[in-house]
Amino acid sequence: MLVVMKANASEEQVRAVCQKIESYGLRAHAIPGAQRTAIGITGNRGEVETGTFESLEGVQEVIKVSKPYKLVSRDVKAEDTIIRFPGSDASIGDNEIAVIAGPCGVESHEQAFAVAERVAKAGARFFRGGAYKPRTSPYAFQGLGELGLQILAEVRERFGLLIVTEAVDHESLALVDDYADVIQIGARNMQNFSLLKAAGRARKPVLLKRGMSATLEEFLMAAEYIMSEGNYNVVLCERGVRTFADHTRNTLDLSVVPAVQRLSHLPILVDPSHGTGKRNKVTPLSRAAIAVGADGLIIEVHNDPDHALSDGNQSLYPDQFDNLMNEVRQIAQVLGRTIADPVADPAARRSAGAAAD
Ligand code: PEP
Ligand code: MN
Repeated sequence: MLVVMKANASEEQVRAVCQKIESYGLRAHAIPGAQRTAIGITGNRGEVETGTFESLEGVQEVIKVSKPYKLVSRDVKAEDTIIRFPGSDASIGDNEIAVIAGPCGVESHEQAFAVAERVAKAGARFFRGGAYKPRTSPYAFQGLGELGLQILAEVRERFGLLIVTEAVDHESLALVDDYADVIQIGARNMQNFSLLKAAGRARKPVLLKRGMSATLEEFLMAAEYIMSEGNYNVVLCERGVRTFADHTRNTLDLSVVPAVQRLSHLPILVDPSHGTGKRNKVTPLSRAAIAVGADGLIIEVHNDPDHALSDGNQSLYPDQFDNLMNEVRQIAQVLGRTIADPVADPAARRSAGAAAD
């Protein structure tokens, strides 16, 4: 159920409605929008009597939400969610397309710095790299753990890049929440409901990857798990689903982008690296992702892909990433969107951001 407040409702009126909702043992989620605040109600097992809230001051109407997901839905918030990062010009979901680039895994200080310098210069504002790697084989590289997170923190310090890295379980989630700017929940964990709830109690925004066999509804319900715990900064990410096709690692489902945008106010990114698994398909699918209206890209880039400890086959060489950025920048322009320009000295961007604080 959704309590829609009047456009001129005061903060006290919103608070009073929330208190009333919580006095019934339910949870109130006040989501401010451009026109009005809507208060989502969760925690109810059955029907809630609408009349209880309709008569409260400042209330415009009470709507029953028939969809299984509520907080992710455009019913709660008509306009797009934009996630901002204090002290940085970066955002996700705004007119500027967010580009997250970096290696699959953080392998060493040298590797992370070599890649970070190149992707920052090419215009990426976010750096990716797993410190904890969910691998199909227990014998494959599992990540550097906390040392990897420390290297990522140094990358942020040196290049002014915001850090996106994966949490694979509760233990790593607490550490990732401390070190990173965005917590990634991987495809294999999209329905790890206890991890989703814990991410919902974390302080940082969450990048939620679509499970490899998840329907759109399952994907949105996973996001709902995070939001239902009070973390409203959720970014969705399409990374390919499993089909019978064997010319690519996964089948990148770009049609999910407009499908998500119809139903949800959350930003949606595309990961053509995992979506195709093949280096030569990453740039073409990146172009397509921007053309279809994605809010951003997550791209694997490695300084020495042939010796990468994971996902070398799908990692771009830095020069290829430069080219990708030039191409998608032009496509973005056609759609009235922007992508950050290349920067000669990323360290200077860092100090400019810090000075603006
Ligand atoms: C990754 O981003 O490196 C990763 C493991 O992605 P996914 O969860 O989409 O497989
Ligand atoms: Mn990878």
